Amino acid sequence: MKIEVDYKRCEGHGLCEDQAPDVFELDDEGDLIYQFEGQDVPAEHQTAAARGAAACPVAALRVVQ
Ligand code: SF4
Repeated sequence: MKIEVDYKRCEGHGLCEDQAPDVFELDDEGDLIYQFEGQDVPAEHQTAAARGAAACPVAALRVVQ
C-alpha cells in the first residue's frame, strides 16, 4: 500500500502523527514529514499508517492500494 499526501491541504493538526508516529511526523515548523514518500509502506507500519490516514480531519492523506 502507498499513501498519497496532499501537502497543500495539510493543516498540521498532527492527528496522523498521534496514530502513527513512525510514519508521520510534524517538524518544528508544523510541516508534515511523511517517512515513506514515493514508496510502499512497509508491512509492519501499514495498520498504523491507515489509522493515521483515517484520522486526518482534512482528508490530506489518501490510501492507495
Ligand atoms: S492529520 Fe492531516 S492535517 Fe493533520 S498533520 Fe496529519 S495530514 Fe496534516
